[in-house]
Amino acid sequence: MSTVDRPRITFFGAADTVTGSRYLVEYGSSQILLESGLFQGPRELRQRNWDDLSVPASELDAVVISHAHLDHCGYLPRLWRQGYRGPIYLTPDTANLAAIVLRDSARLQEEDAFYAQKKGYSKHKEPLPLYGQDDAEGAISLFRPVNFSAWQDLPEGGRVRFLPAGHILGAAIVDMECGGVRLLHSGDLGQGNHPLLVGPHVIPEVEYDAVLVESTYGDRVHPPRDNTLAEVISSTIHRGGTVLIPAFAVDRTEVLLHAINEAVDAGEIPRVPIYVDSPMAIEALTVYRHAIDRDHSEIRPEIREHLSAADVFDPGTLETLRTPEDSKSINGAPPCIIISASGMATGGRVLHHLKRLLPDPLNSVVLVGYQAGGTRGAQLRDGAKQVRIHGEDVTVRAEIHDVGYFSVHADRNDVLGWLRSAPIAPKRIVLIHGENEERHELAPVVEEKTGVKVFTPGYEETLTL
Ligand code: ZN
Repeated sequence: MSTVDRPRITFFGAADTVTGSRYLVEYGSSQILLESGLFQGPRELRQRNWDDLSVPASELDAVVISHAHLDHCGYLPRLWRQGYRGPIYLTPDTANLAAIVLRDSARLQEEDAFYAQKKGYSKHKEPLPLYGQDDAEGAISLFRPVNFSAWQDLPEGGRVRFLPAGHILGAAIVDMECGGVRLLHSGDLGQGNHPLLVGPHVIPEVEYDAVLVESTYGDRVHPPRDNTLAEVISSTIHRGGTVLIPAFAVDRTEVLLHAINEAVDAGEIPRVPIYVDSPMAIEALTVYRHAIDRDHSEIRPEIREHLSAADVFDPGTLETLRTPEDSKSINGAPPCIIISASGMATGGRVLHHLKRLLPDPLNSVVLVGYQAGGTRGAQLRDGAKQVRIHGEDVTVRAEIHDVGYFSVHADRNDVLGWLRSAPIAPKRIVLIHGENEERHELAPVVEEKTGVKVFTPGYEETLTL
């Protein structure tokens, strides 16, 4: 076992891109993996998911996960397969949601490999899944939930705690003390206007050696919420079309249902069937409903006090489609709203809906989230006339709308505001979780506004503290 003189962080992902969050924190003879995310988007990035960690997984002392999005937890089954059997620390609702997300991910990996083999469009003779159900169950068995604000011991006197990030249910800012240094990792920061969750916790009154902060939207300010979603739904329904919303199953579906529910209540859109066509989204909805039902420090008080969970998400026309047969049963249905995963149209049931709905100009596809470069979602957003789905070219004639204001990521102003909330200036700020263009645009602004040195690590770069 090797030891390091000074604590250091190596950036094995989300260092020159948004996805694949993995940061190795080393101190003394201890190794903690902060985040274990999947790379998503272009093939050359996704290829990295097949590589083993550059340190033996069995030698890691602990894994810490900020929240249940795949780009933060989706590599856990690969860690299990590489022999990791130590604890995985995360908040209780991150544990609930990550279990759903990892099981779904494993199933998708297996289905995609099977489908690729059956249709023969894979470049490989026998396409293999990245991981399977057993690997996902193995990783889930290592979950050790830690409540918000409670300190969890790490080896050699280190410790870690979670603070609410306001991004999705269970999402945390990670506060770590190890080897004599203090680290704060923003995880994914919310905007402070999540309709269900309280805003991101302010930076504690501590002199941090490093504050790692996400920069997904470092180059822009989100437009204020307007009525586009309701208008698009209303006009599409009135001309007899179907509205398809590719949405991340976890959180985005809940936020959308809440917004649609409010618009129906306000008479802005007609009461039509709303289909949630994603088994994972349906399970996540249950976790959200339970969280709202409990007395929960992360849920906005007005949601807890004034509404029952059923009212929050369902105007009375919500139908959940559990099986593939249920999913097929809405083919050719009259005007309706379909919310289906995945959010960037990289896989899942949404692909079959896109194939069916894209060629017809009566329909609308509404993009409500971040679309990473190279994904079908990004191609649609950028006005592609054709997209390739399951090895077929599909013509795009449906209306495509990009409603960016559903983002649950902090924008430039939110990031700056959060950093400036620090009662004591940190020694350095590390910009992570952003495309290079965004990070390099944000870095000088952060330096100017905070007076703190900014570090923008590259892939596999090490920062000694
Ligand atoms: Zn996230």
